[in-house]
Amino acid sequence: MRFRSIGFRLAAWYFLVFACGVAAFSIVAWFAMRASLYHAVDEALEDRVRGVQSFMERQISSLSIPEIRDEFREHSVLGPGGDLFQVADENGQWLYRSVPLETNNVPVALPGALSTPRFETLRVQGHVLRFYSQRIMVNGRQYTVQVAALMNEAFEALGWFRILLALAAPLLLIAASAGGYWISRRALVPVDEISHAAQRISIENLTDRLQVPQTGDQLQRLSETLNAMLSRLEASVRRMTQFTADASHELRAPVALIRTTAEVAVLKRDRQAHEYLEALDDILEESERTSQVVDSLMLLARADSGKESLERVSVDACTIVRSAAEPGERLARTREVDFSVDLPSSPIPIQADPEALRRALLILMDNAAKYTTRGGSIKVGLTRRDGLAVVSVSDTGIGIGSQDQAHIFDRFWRADKARSREHGGAGLGLSIAKWIVDMHAGTISVQSEPGGGSVFEIRVPADKNLAPTC
Ligand code: ADP
Repeated sequence: MRFRSIGFRLAAWYFLVFACGVAAFSIVAWFAMRASLYHAVDEALEDRVRGVQSFMERQISSLSIPEIRDEFREHSVLGPGGDLFQVADENGQWLYRSVPLETNNVPVALPGALSTPRFETLRVQGHVLRFYSQRIMVNGRQYTVQVAALMNEAFEALGWFRILLALAAPLLLIAASAGGYWISRRALVPVDEISHAAQRISIENLTDRLQVPQTGDQLQRLSETLNAMLSRLEASVRRMTQFTADASHELRAPVALIRTTAEVAVLKRDRQAHEYLEALDDILEESERTSQVVDSLMLLARADSGKESLERVSVDACTIVRSAAEPGERLARTREVDFSVDLPSSPIPIQADPEALRRALLILMDNAAKYTTRGGSIKVGLTRRDGLAVVSVSDTGIGIGSQDQAHIFDRFWRADKARSREHGGAGLGLSIAKWIVDMHAGTISVQSEPGGGSVFEIRVPADKNLAPTC
């Protein structure tokens, strides 16, 4: 038996509560029994006093005192406990005393002292006697009648009852506690099974699930909750594994390219200076691309671990859009794509990390430039709508199929890998943009169709307090 187990603690509580219950029940039962015994005896005593009174009322005028005494003596032996009574007149002179009371000279309360009927319990010669004393009026004269009953049997019964309680209560307690322990152990067996099953699940078999008992109780809910947690864990582990695989793949290609370019440059015998320069140029370009991927990976890793935080301040959305549009326009122009910005005349204050939001917008503008063919156009707009600052980046580029739209914010996801790679994209830009927008309590969405261009929208809550100029 493990003393810290839930089963033991439940049984201990059960024992404690049951012990209090049994103790309370025993005390109440004992007092109730005692009260009922006294009640029965007292009622009989009152009856007997009434009998004495009616006897005296009937006989006292016709009989002399010695005759009355004889009558009392004669009648007293007939009833149960009848030999235990005595009657005194108003002067305290005994009219009649039954032998046991006279022998022991059991006192009777004087009529003057006895204002109300009185019950009392006295111990006489080792016997417990219940006395009832009452003043009665017969033919205009006052008498004090005192009747008594032997309580020995009642006390014996009470004693037996006490022994019974004292024996039965601990036995009941032991049986109930053992039963409580057994029931709690039985009730907790499924919990043990669940924990054993949960222990068997490790990173290697994360697809395993716990059996769900169809009991509709807490255990079913516990198993379902653990299974839901396992599903989430499995999804994150799968994402992490995928992320690591994609990241290594993404880094292996440029490193291999750098190495090959360097090897070719070194091994080639008759090399000219411009060939060296070309090789170095290629190496430099590939290194830059690689370090960009590494930067993005680092940022996403920090974001996942919660270490990357944003410093949000009150700022005008126009300022951020304008500062992103400058390099965005340069990118578009190098690709011979037209670029225009449409800003509102009044400011749209927002709570934002300007640098981070600028980065997200630049990702959208860079993509728009990358995936728009020469002669196309890019439009950047900013409006206030339903309490939100809405930035849109639309292009007339290649567009995205509806199937692909569901994945574009996933890490390393590219609709057209060859084409994207040719532009230096690793499929991380939109994941970073989405993380930045999420950190601003905003949303990012796309509307697009293949060949029909794309419209990306970033929406962040507008701030009512600030009103800088645009
Ligand atoms: P990448 O660095 O490859 O551009 P992103 O995460 O920024 O990675 O984008 C993911 C994919 O979404 C891209 O590879 C591309 O297929 C698609 N995409 C993003 N923006 C556009 C756009 N404006 N037009 C067409 N396709 C786009």
